[in-house]
Amino acid sequence: MTAPTVTAPPAAKSALLPVDDALARVLDGVRPLGPEHVPLTEAAGRTLAHDLAAALTNPPFDVSSMDGYAVRAADLKAAPVTLKLAGESAAGWPYAGSVRPGEAVRIFTGAALPDGADTIVIQENTSASADAVRILELAHKGANVRWRGGDFHEGDSVLTAGTRLTARHILLAASAGHAMLATVRKPVVAILSTGDELIEPSDRPMAGQIVASNSYGLAALIAAAGGEARLIGIARDTPEDLAQKFEEARGADILVTTGGASVGDHDLVRPALEAWGAKLDFYKIAMRPGKPLFFGRNGAMKVLGLPGNPLASIIGGRIFLVPLISRLLGRTDTITPISATLTVPIEANGPRTHYMRALLDTSSARARVTPFGGQDSSFVRALAQANCLAVIPADAPALPEGSLISVLPLDF
Ligand code: AMP
Ligand code: MG
Repeated sequence: MTAPTVTAPPAAKSALLPVDDALARVLDGVRPLGPEHVPLTEAAGRTLAHDLAAALTNPPFDVSSMDGYAVRAADLKAAPVTLKLAGESAAGWPYAGSVRPGEAVRIFTGAALPDGADTIVIQENTSASADAVRILELAHKGANVRWRGGDFHEGDSVLTAGTRLTARHILLAASAGHAMLATVRKPVVAILSTGDELIEPSDRPMAGQIVASNSYGLAALIAAAGGEARLIGIARDTPEDLAQKFEEARGADILVTTGGASVGDHDLVRPALEAWGAKLDFYKIAMRPGKPLFFGRNGAMKVLGLPGNPLASIIGGRIFLVPLISRLLGRTDTITPISATLTVPIEANGPRTHYMRALLDTSSARARVTPFGGQDSSFVRALAQANCLAVIPADAPALPEGSLISVLPLDF
């Protein structure tokens, strides 16, 4: 087995890498993956790979926005005025002729404005007979007409690369004449839980066993972030089993391991990864929970080693994996932390950024945040009850009630 090749932080025991520095190293040089064409019905939640140019003009023709009569504004000098009824234009059934001076054409919402006409008088302001219509109130030129191209023209850039597609973007893409969209291929993230004590949630624990919950929380987190999770199950704490499970991750863009990352006798994941050919970039982050976290690469594959504690694993995933997936997708939307005032005092913090499960209240103009007591990093119920992480910076002094702190909404 090769010697550890951790390049930073330097050997000093206290040198924990600050979260922002670690994240910068995870994201360094990461480019969006290639495109994959999907039908509109599968595009929701995907990220647009290229700027999208409209293939059509919208509205495609001058169109009536009301039921009424298409007329020439020049004929509306004074009301009332009677015009000869020359025909009809209905949605999908344009009037074939041209409206001449002194004429009107019956028209309905969504119908094409006939040639010669430039104005729609709504039917409420008219009285009609079989062959004539009396205009009771004048309308200004262009009234109730939606002009061709008022929304966008063919060739206009209507959506930009990196947009995470939601209903309103898909509505626009369809209007612009696209049945398929070039989206960024989803990053494939292989998830491996490691530990001799782990069982699947469908099994019942024998003495000393615990459910490998991390894999499932992370899979959902990855899906929410736009990635494709591939569960490779549980590796036992042996170099052989780890090596075999790493092989099953081949082809993934990212391998995420949980557990076995610390310094105990059974924490074999880092040396096993190095024996497999991975180059480790950093190890140990100034964050709580989640100190024994590492990152590296094996060829094109990125490797993120998360601690086994469920809280540390999911928060490490939120802090490092979600931005990495976002970068691989080329997403331009980012979730920025918001500020909130503390409803309770917080003790002075140690040298690690503390991510505290907390409740954010945004019902008043000034957001308020209440961290929970009892922040044991293996307790998951409080995480499910929380709606944000209160971010207490490393080495922060004691913070009195009312202090302004940064808050990360929990969007997974
Ligand atoms: P480790 O990082 O392997 O030392 O594990 C730290 C703690 O997390 C131990 O209590 C493990 O039993 C627990 N743990 C490890 N992996 C998982 C997992 N996949 N799901 C839930 N708990 C785990
Ligand atoms: Mg373990």
